[in-house]
Amino acid sequence: MDSSSIIRKTAGDLRRVPNFVDYAGERSTFSWPAVRAQFAETGFNIATHAVERHASGALRDKVAFRFLSRDKPARDVSYGELSQLTSRFANVLETLGIGRGERVFVLAGRIPELYVAVLGSLKHGAVVSPLFSAFGPEPIATRVNLGEGRVLVTTDMLYERKVAKWRDRMPTLQHVLLVAEDGGRTDVPGTLDLAVLMAEASDQCTVAATGQEEMSLLHFTSGTTGTPKGAVHVHGAVVTHFATGRYALDLHADDTYWCTADPGWVTGTSYGIIAPLLHGVTSIIDREEFDAERWYSILQDEAVTVWYTAPTAIRMLMKAGAEIPHKYRFPQLRFIASVGEPLNPEAVRWGKEVLGLPIHDNWWQTETGGIMIANTPAFDIKPGSMGRPLPGIDAAIMRHHEDGTVTPIEEPDVEGELALKRGWPSMFRAYLNNEERYRKCFAGEWYLTGDLAKRDADGYFWFVGRADDVIKSAGHLIGPFEVESALMEHPAVAEAGVIGKPDPVVGEVVKAFVSLKKGFEESEALRMELLGHARKKLGAAVAPKEIAFLPSLPRTRSGKIMRRLLKARELGLPEGDTSTLEGGA
Ligand code: ATP
Ligand code: MG
Repeated sequence: MDSSSIIRKTAGDLRRVPNFVDYAGERSTFSWPAVRAQFAETGFNIATHAVERHASGALRDKVAFRFLSRDKPARDVSYGELSQLTSRFANVLETLGIGRGERVFVLAGRIPELYVAVLGSLKHGAVVSPLFSAFGPEPIATRVNLGEGRVLVTTDMLYERKVAKWRDRMPTLQHVLLVAEDGGRTDVPGTLDLAVLMAEASDQCTVAATGQEEMSLLHFTSGTTGTPKGAVHVHGAVVTHFATGRYALDLHADDTYWCTADPGWVTGTSYGIIAPLLHGVTSIIDREEFDAERWYSILQDEAVTVWYTAPTAIRMLMKAGAEIPHKYRFPQLRFIASVGEPLNPEAVRWGKEVLGLPIHDNWWQTETGGIMIANTPAFDIKPGSMGRPLPGIDAAIMRHHEDGTVTPIEEPDVEGELALKRGWPSMFRAYLNNEERYRKCFAGEWYLTGDLAKRDADGYFWFVGRADDVIKSAGHLIGPFEVESALMEHPAVAEAGVIGKPDPVVGEVVKAFVSLKKGFEESEALRMELLGHARKKLGAAVAPKEIAFLPSLPRTRSGKIMRRLLKARELGLPEGDTSTLEGGA
């Protein structure tokens, strides 16, 4: 890449980082056992560190969560209140006879009860699995059955629409606890009213003394490349959540933090619930779906200081146009990060122009439990790169040999599979009921991520594509991200998704699906212009041969473009597992 595009951190930028972290120094002295030792004395229950530590200390009256919704005034829950509510919930589980390690599923929008149920389950030593409230009956039942759910916490309306008729297909489910969406009481046969149980329960309880290796959360992957897998996480992961909350997000107790992810995917729990609480921050939780005007006004009115969002959201803000943000001011905002998909260089720079700060891409997966590679606040950004491994994380690019062995590639700028040396605390411990698949993820001491990437001479990692999405055309290996980013540099393009289309001559040809920004109309002339633009940027071998316009691209509920679906539709093949498709339920 051209070095003039590096975004250099100025002294002013670094002043915004309260504990300036000397990246290289920190990496060389960092050790997981040392960080773990800070936690060991009080045990490894996530709820102890996230809630109890603050509730019994100076932060007792500080707002932990501020819940926003369109039709109701904001509701603030302090650390002290969160402790009482989660104790009540833990006692409800106790009364229902739910034991350590048993599974509690939560199916709800971003309402306070969801957060209380997650933390209360952890406190009790039960395992919790949050599901997207927009899932249809089938994906709900599949997940509850795979996880052998004993309790389901949901709302009266969701129950009626998505669970009641299917309940006999979930034989392990013993208790359904309902929250009334109108805030009143519920009286649905075969269910219990959570508000009544909570009112009857004591607000004091002893936190379960879970060990580091005891299961805490069951999280399903996004289903971008196929059927979602259930990743098993443990309480000891709290150590990673703490360290990465500091290194990658720079969280400090005086921050007002907004993570836009839903707890239905892992970012919404690791960084939407756990990490911010560990650092004693105030988190903003918005119940509503994306709305550009609303989002800018939340950033402004709530005086958000640290913002963690996703490329899909940033692209939607870009698509909504440049006039809206000009109506708002964001003087408090000091750090923005993004995860979930590759962040196009265009989006990094857009942040700088429109919000006054570049956007810091970071990379991780449901399986890793926490951020692994990041553009941290403390070093320069190379737009388009996902950054460098955090302290405590060893990442490598692996070469697969014909005899089945895998070895790290030492030289820079060579493509291969991204791998992580096992041993960081938040690593998943299993794919539930799928040992074979889990085993396949490892080669000796390395966890193989299924993503292709390269590392440059400065140690920055560059995402190439998922192993499944890479296009083989006339002897070239083409990563969809590079092509999509080039298309996005054209002013008309809001989003692009690129696939390989089988071709008898070259193997596969590159086909791009494009959605346009507000104010642009699809036309033959624009198609030709985009083809020309891509050819100029990428060269004929890599540029798309075909471009089709779509109003929007199919994506998962966690916001990822589903290239496999674009491909299946293009080829008239079965669509496969679409349980996580946005708008699909
Ligand atoms: P499934 O495993 O079910 O196909 P998924 O991999 O999308 O779904 P997640 O665990 O939610 O499920 O997503 C992790 C994946 O998202 C990564 O493996 C990577 O492909 C992609 N990803 C996340 N962050 C980034 C990033 N900053 N840059 C590029 N890709 C990213
Ligand atoms: Mg995956």
